[in-house]
Amino acid sequence: MDLLKNKILSEGIALSDNVLKVDKFLNHQIDPELMVEIGKEFYERFKDDKITKVLTLESSGIAPAVMTALNFNVPAVFARKRKSLTFTNDLLSAQVFSYTKQETNMISVSNQFIKPGDNILIIDDFLANGEAAAALISIVEQADARVAGLGIVIEKSFQSGASILKSKNYRVESLARVQSLTDGTITFVEDAE
Ligand code: 5GP
Repeated sequence: MDLLKNKILSEGIALSDNVLKVDKFLNHQIDPELMVEIGKEFYERFKDDKITKVLTLESSGIAPAVMTALNFNVPAVFARKRKSLTFTNDLLSAQVFSYTKQETNMISVSNQFIKPGDNILIIDDFLANGEAAAALISIVEQADARVAGLGIVIEKSFQSGASILKSKNYRVESLARVQSLTDGTITFVEDAE
């Protein structure tokens, strides 16, 4: 998706060889027009899949997930990282090791919001080693629902997540695939590959 790649090149910062900072348009400040286009693009890629719900993880997945769900005319659900007083019973939960925070969190979704028979599109901002994706997949499967596929805004293709998910036969659609962040230079996997 050229609009996204250009945005990454102009406003993204390679903080290290492994971490890309995109807080000017995705992880802190959000570019609404870009989110609208991301929602349309995920819709185009999954429109034949009879999606019944979009699932993401708070907080940075929410903007692209909501825009995607709007196109499908289905609800967006986000897995929560913290328990609250109103959020206690009947939870579907999984552990996720946070790549950026280097800590393990429990994430949870109420079993009201994912039901057997649901066909779920998982959306996330980044795919690195696939920990967040694996936890979201576990939650869907605990509910006896189906994972239709994963829509990723930025895949870091030099990390293992995409290949692990594909080896398990999950469909992964990434809008930008970063090949390398070495020496502060952002390069993409060629679309033809
Ligand atoms: P994974 O679980 O695939 O290892 O990592 C994905 C999660 O970690 C995403 O939900 C995202 O929040 C965060 N993440 C991983 N790598 C990066 C990165 O390079 N930059 C940012 N901003 N977040 C990342």
